[in-house]
This record gives sequence, C-alpha cells and structure tokens, in this order.
Amino acid sequence: MYKKRGLLIVLSGPSGVGKGTVRKALFEAPNTNYEYSISMTTRSPREGEVDGVDYFFKTKEEFESLIEQGKLLEHAQYVGNYYGTPVDYVNEMIEAGRDVFLEIEVVGAAQVREKMPDGLFIFLAPPSLSELESRLIGRGTEAEEVIASRVEKAREELEMMHLYDYVVENDDVQKACDRIHAIVTAEHCRRERVEARYLEMLKGEEK
Ligand code: 5GP
Repeated sequence: MYKKRGLLIVLSGPSGVGKGTVRKALFEAPNTNYEYSISMTTRSPREGEVDGVDYFFKTKEEFESLIEQGKLLEHAQYVGNYYGTPVDYVNEMIEAGRDVFLEIEVVGAAQVREKMPDGLFIFLAPPSLSELESRLIGRGTEAEEVIASRVEKAREELEMMHLYDYVVENDDVQKACDRIHAIVTAEHCRRERVEARYLEMLKGEEK
C-alpha cells in the first residue's frame, strides 16, 4: 500500500548567515505547514527562551547519554556546546506524512545527508564574505580575533556547499523565504517522490 511520506527539509549554512531569522520568518508565514524539529542543546537558555519551545535544554551528561542511546539523528559541537536532533520525532513525522524542518549547522547537516540522503538539503549563503563579517560584528561584542576566526570558519563552511541540493542567498529574509517555499513546492512534485503512487494506481487498474 502506498503511503505518503513527509519530506525532511534541512536548512543549513555558515554561522552568521541568518539561518535562525529565516527559519522564524518561514514559520510565521501564512499557509506553511512544516513541523519544526526542536533541537537538544547543552547551552544555557537565553533570555526569553523556553524549554521545549526553542530547545530542549540538557546537561552535558544527559546529552552524552542520548548520544549513547542512539537517540540523535545527528549532533555537533558549536562554540563549546552540544546541539543535536532527536531522531524519533523526525521519523514519526515523516512516517505520518508531515514535512519536518531542521535548522542546523553544517557538520550536523553532513551527518543527516549520510543517514537520510532523500532529504532536501538547502544551503543558506551570505551575499558575500564581507557582508557575513559585518553581520558577525553587528551581532555582538565579540573580540576582533574571535570575529576573524568565525569568518575563517565561515569560509570552511562555505566549502561544504557541495553537499547540498539548493543554494539560497540570504540577501533579504523575505526573498530567501519565498525561494525556500518554491523549492519545497517543486520538491513535492519530483518524479521520484510521487511515481510510486501512480504505479500503484496502475496496478490497481490491471486487476
Ligand atoms: P544558537 O546557540 O545560536 O541557538 O545556535 C548555534 C548554532 O547551532 C546555529 O548555527 C544553529 O543552526 C545550530 N543548531 C541548532 N540546533 C542544532 C542541532 O540540532 N544540530 C546541529 N548540528 N546544529 C544545531
């Protein structure tokens, strides 16, 4: 029996490119129907962040035990903290035919690509490296050498672009969201994703 599976949508890209902002705008847009996979992290909640809404906040011990139990689809360390995607939630949603959206950094995205190659991998790119640098500077109070090392990291992250299916430039948040919606819509029409349904239909007619 044909059963529609949901799409796994992975939005990733270099730090400072605006993944979080674009993701929030996507979920605020009307007529969107994605499920957001809430990540686990060991970093402390920022002001206004709620456990179970923004993240599931875990201790290092709890997080390491989740890794050992195989409860994470992927995990990575970012600026001294662990981040990871709960595997059961993602599988349940996909089985239920729902589209699941992950907003994760590039190391984790590479792990997801290995495990679930039929996912949709979207790389959010900065308009330029200098633009990325000024966004990192504008973000906060980081020291010059920290910014320099982040820009260097962003360069390495840009080199991981080849692991993705689509590249969306974040020149403007609204435009980036529109492009992502268009990609998801097109992806749903991809022959490989729909033909099983039609083949089954044809088989039914033969009887
Ligand atoms: P922040 O601490 O600013 O919320 O997130 C830091 C970075 O971790 C961002 O690049 C964000 O996309 C990434 N991130 C959030 N959740 C996950 C996750 O579950 N797995 C991975 N690999 N990265 C994540």
